[in-house]
Amino acid sequence: MKKEKFLFEKLGILSILILFFLTIQNKKEETIKASFIQEETDILLEKGYSLTQINEMMEYLNEENLNKILESNYTDLESFYKVPNFHFELLERYKAYRNLSNKSFENVVTEVNIHLDTPFYTDIKTIQNPEEITVLVNKYHALPKDYEPKDLTEIPSFPNLKLRKEVISDFENLLANALLDQVFLIPYSTYRSYEYQEELYNGYLEKEDQDIVDTYSARPGHSEHQTGLAIDIRSNSHWNSLTPEDYEWIKNNGYKYGFILRYSKGQEQITGYKEEPWHIRYVGIEHATKIHELNITWEEYYDLYLQ
Ligand SMILES: [Zn+2]
Repeated sequence: MKKEKFLFEKLGILSILILFFLTIQNKKEETIKASFIQEETDILLEKGYSLTQINEMMEYLNEENLNKILESNYTDLESFYKVPNFHFELLERYKAYRNLSNKSFENVVTEVNIHLDTPFYTDIKTIQNPEEITVLVNKYHALPKDYEPKDLTEIPSFPNLKLRKEVISDFENLLANALLDQVFLIPYSTYRSYEYQEELYNGYLEKEDQDIVDTYSARPGHSEHQTGLAIDIRSNSHWNSLTPEDYEWIKNNGYKYGFILRYSKGQEQITGYKEEPWHIRYVGIEHATKIHELNITWEEYYDLYLQ
């Protein structure tokens, strides 16, 4: 008994000591943090920001934006900085775009982040991560000319068509489950090389003006088909499109297999393409499900959740 009591006492003293040590450590960290905030506050006050503004800046801004503001002269941030996907370096573009469009601060930030304040096919960036399943390919983001996915695989039920390996089983699942609902879908265009897209696009250019062609065909390097993640599907009864019923099925079920509709009606201003009910894009089940719930474009989703 005596021995045990002694042990308890010893342990008791030990835990008090540990607690004491941890409290001191915590206080120390708090003091460091507080003095850091005080230092930043002083700098911002000197630049001309009000205390209310500074408190809000501390609340809303991430470290990257805050640091950039600390390094710059005073500027009127309006209410842009309260938007989660705000980027300080784009502030002047946000302001200019809002003057023109009079949209909400949230919409202005997202649309400028997507680049919609500049015409399509301007300020084009070469994609650095073409092999990622979540890659964003559009009129502002081009795939390298020589990019070809390393794991292109034939679709077992359509051996003349190739997709990225990761897409195959989900796509076969989609086809099988559609059939169970009497929806008979057939893929007719999947992976397309840069050169093939160039041929297609130039072929259209021979028949129509470029501004028209650009509404329905991607310039080479800008086609999702080059990623091996996009599929054009048709109804069994149509040669290159879907019946309204089949389209409804895809719209309501595609996400369960990781697919999104990429070019929908009402989203032309963001995607830069006329509605393409037949064009689906693999992004994986998790992202596809969220996009289905949010009912937004891949561009908006990419900016809000994947940047
Ligand atoms: Zn397509």
